[in-house]
Amino acid sequence: MRRSPDPLCGFGGARGFVFPRCRSALHQKARYCPLCGSLLAGTRVSGRVRGRCGDCGFVAFMNPASASLGVVLNEAGEVLLIRRAIEPFLGAWSLPAGYQEIDESPEEAVRREVFEEGGVDCVVEGLLDLLFIPDDPRKPGNVAVFLCRATGGEPRPGSEESQAGFFPLSRLPDNIGFDNAERILNRLQGATGFAQRLSQLSRTLDERT
Ligand SMILES: [Zn+2]
Repeated sequence: MRRSPDPLCGFGGARGFVFPRCRSALHQKARYCPLCGSLLAGTRVSGRVRGRCGDCGFVAFMNPASASLGVVLNEAGEVLLIRRAIEPFLGAWSLPAGYQEIDESPEEAVRREVFEEGGVDCVVEGLLDLLFIPDDPRKPGNVAVFLCRATGGEPRPGSEESQAGFFPLSRLPDNIGFDNAERILNRLQGATGFAQRLSQLSRTLDERT
């Protein structure tokens, strides 16, 4: 296994390459081959300079992470929010969300995250949106935004949250992180009949089963 102190990432290194739209921690740390541990070298592969291992040929393709987010409504049409106890956005409220595990579907991921972060069981009613978040401080991601219906449990904060609760869309807390308000919640507030759409979806599902 070959080791070298030469930085690859362009963060003070002469040999480095940079990712013009993204300076996330993930990309800055991609210096060594995850298969054999040798240094990655900036090499042109499929039209871009990427980290390529000189020993085993592994190419470190950098792709956005996949995350799932739940807009979970209860019978009163209130939305589930959790208050973060960790960075980023420590102390801010947000919609429950998290990264998809390698063997999970996006729907399974959102149901798991909603329960882990907010203590609520839910069913997925449909896909509301797919957001590309290039400026997430951890890594760029595609976020699948699911409309979900709460089916059980009481709001209860998980290990990385300090509070959890349902809020009317017309009376949301001020401090909402991740641009959740601008990107998602404000659009729902303006959507008249959103709760009715949910109940219609529920009825359709009930009739099918
Ligand atoms: Zn390698």
